[in-house]
Amino acid sequence: MARDTSPQCKQCRREGEKLLLKGERCLTDKCGVDRRAYPPGEHGRGRRRKQSEYLTQLREKQKARRYYGVLEGQFRNYYKTAARQPGVTGENLLRLLEVRLDNVIYRLGFGASRRQARQLVRHGHFTVNGRRVNIPSYRVRPEDLIIAVLASEGLKAVIEDATDLTASVPAWLQADHDNMVGKVLRLPERTDIDIPIQESLIVELYSK
Ligand code: SF4
Repeated sequence: MARDTSPQCKQCRREGEKLLLKGERCLTDKCGVDRRAYPPGEHGRGRRRKQSEYLTQLREKQKARRYYGVLEGQFRNYYKTAARQPGVTGENLLRLLEVRLDNVIYRLGFGASRRQARQLVRHGHFTVNGRRVNIPSYRVRPEDLIIAVLASEGLKAVIEDATDLTASVPAWLQADHDNMVGKVLRLPERTDIDIPIQESLIVELYSK
């Protein structure tokens, strides 16, 4: 299964802002953006590029893609699906990304980052409605019940280590950290999605 393996701090530096891809480390003084506030690469430090309309739209799309750890082809497919759905395409797009199982695990606080949550899903550590699901892009639906599989003490420790009890769980989800159970109460609205993305710029980019 294809996945984005490029260094996460470089992704943030490319976008010029903290995308919070590494969990707790992002809140420490080891953050790559804080330490080297210029784009990666040989000419990153001195380069000043004029931000054209196209570049602004492109950067916004890349930022969204990086937040959710989705490759270009997958992202475009999400856009096509969003454009076919009724309602506002940009909001549909963010909703499709938000209901990915790996993102939901992260939002529930069962992973310190989306990448870690994805790995836990891939390794089959969660069931959805009683069936083990190891597909990170699996789309959850209202009333879905997500339970961590605590088959062995080793696995339990892995998931417990990953669990962020301080994570604020969005209103469309419900988490029981003691029993490692999550529930999808409803689909997320735009106001539930706190990532700083201007989705209209992405729609403009793909509409060309
Ligand atoms: Fe981005 Fe986190 Fe790396 Fe900082 S530490 S650059 S926020 S991934």
